[in-house]
Amino acid sequence: MEKILNYIDGELRASTTGRWLEVIEPATATSYGQLSDSGDEDLELAVAAAQSAFPAWSRTPAEDRGRMLRRLAQKIEAMSEPLALAESIDTGKPITLTRKVDIPRAARNLHFFADAATQFASEAHYMEAGAINYTLRMPLGVVACISPWNLPLYLLTWKIAPALAAGNCVIAKPSEITPVTAWLFSRLCQEAGLPPGVLNILHGNGPGIGQAIVAHPGISAISFTGGTATGASIARTVAPEFRKLSLELGGKNPSIVFADADWEPMMAGVVRAGYSNQGQICLCGSRVLVESSVYEKFRDEFVTRVGALQIGDPLNEDTEQGAVVSLAHRDKILDCVEKARQAGGKILTGGSALEPDAERCRDGWFIEPTVIDGLAADSDCNQEEIFGPVVSLIPFEDEAQALSIANGTRYGLAASVWSGNIGRCHRLAEQLQAGLIWINTWMMRDLRTPMGGVKNSGVGREGGLEAMRFFTEPRNVCIKYR
Ligand code: NAD
Repeated sequence: MEKILNYIDGELRASTTGRWLEVIEPATATSYGQLSDSGDEDLELAVAAAQSAFPAWSRTPAEDRGRMLRRLAQKIEAMSEPLALAESIDTGKPITLTRKVDIPRAARNLHFFADAATQFASEAHYMEAGAINYTLRMPLGVVACISPWNLPLYLLTWKIAPALAAGNCVIAKPSEITPVTAWLFSRLCQEAGLPPGVLNILHGNGPGIGQAIVAHPGISAISFTGGTATGASIARTVAPEFRKLSLELGGKNPSIVFADADWEPMMAGVVRAGYSNQGQICLCGSRVLVESSVYEKFRDEFVTRVGALQIGDPLNEDTEQGAVVSLAHRDKILDCVEKARQAGGKILTGGSALEPDAERCRDGWFIEPTVIDGLAADSDCNQEEIFGPVVSLIPFEDEAQALSIANGTRYGLAASVWSGNIGRCHRLAEQLQAGLIWINTWMMRDLRTPMGGVKNSGVGREGGLEAMRFFTEPRNVCIKYR
């Protein structure tokens, strides 16, 4: 059985606590590894290693830091097939998705910030009174990057790459539920010759080592992606100490469908937005708002398409829906469906746990892709993130009502608008309360743009050079020369 070790000061080490957590494959419900459950002593070792690596790494020329990130990207590319397989086993998501999306995008994050390291610039301002201001952008020191289970390698690299590019040393904490790709990545860091202590990866559970990292006074900034409740708890710890914090949190994203949308790409896009990775992507469109004149046509076709999604062993090439990530998560999703039923929702397809045909997966945690309608816009199912393969359909009469339903939740992560009326698309883009808005598409990402949400979906949006700025401290220098 595989032992997943911490990566501290360039070495792979078991936790000093001697404790181990089970790592379980969601598609089979069997344990296939043991994970170091880190404690305070591991954290002290990691912080000390990062602090001692910081002076040299922060003074390493940006071009050389970029070269190191590119080497890491190339290592991922060279290992893409084993990484895609590992991530599929670890998360339960179809291997076609990990091959096409997660692993290539993880490499792209590192390539992007390899380039960004050399493009990062600071500002200078001339004053007529005879002075020049220039702003130094100094790396912060030791920073923490905490990531969730749903896109494990992609989100880990999305956080550590700008931090390292800007000259910081990092303590990363991957999710204890899906730690395997981070573990493989730590071995790639060794092979690539990343200087010891520049990146340290501590494994273990959130309330334990996660909370300890957040509370540690040696950590200058925290970049967190995960649930809104966890984000709030981290903010409570960090705020009184005025440390920098970036939070990328949950969503309840609307896909807004108008009658004049280009039908075929819209249908395909809205299904993909609802059910990719079994609905376990923060950007998934879990509320589908449909103009009433085409509501019935849309509903019937949507239900047919969702009912036809191929559910099965994530390792099969033709599987479109794999397992959800854990037993607890499966039960939470099914509980939400039951509550929706009790609130008067009609289950149009799905709604239950499922035993797939594949013998290997008989005990796995699968859920039928589910479509619900008939619920009020303010019902729990339409307000709270379920994070599973559950989509609720809501009819609307006009643009104003669509907007009011779309904005009527505490979240504001993403929205997609499907319409052939370009003026309307721009009007909605202006008024939708969301950090990411897609028009006639979903989940297209340009890494130069900010990523993240408004309201309870987070603060401190990061993208492109902005992400590098987050990981620096501006220091203004004013020179009087006259
Ligand atoms: P989570 O909040 O339970 O855990 C995220 C990470 O935080 C894990 O590594 C966990 O171990 C750690 N953690 C838990 N409690 C902690 C604490 N008290 N202190 C420090 N660290 C702690 O989230 P999850 O269940 O792993 O992920 C799903 C959530 O992530 C969903 O809500 C989803 O919307 C969100 N998400 C958001 C984005 C985004 O970009 N906005 C992207 C992906 C996922």
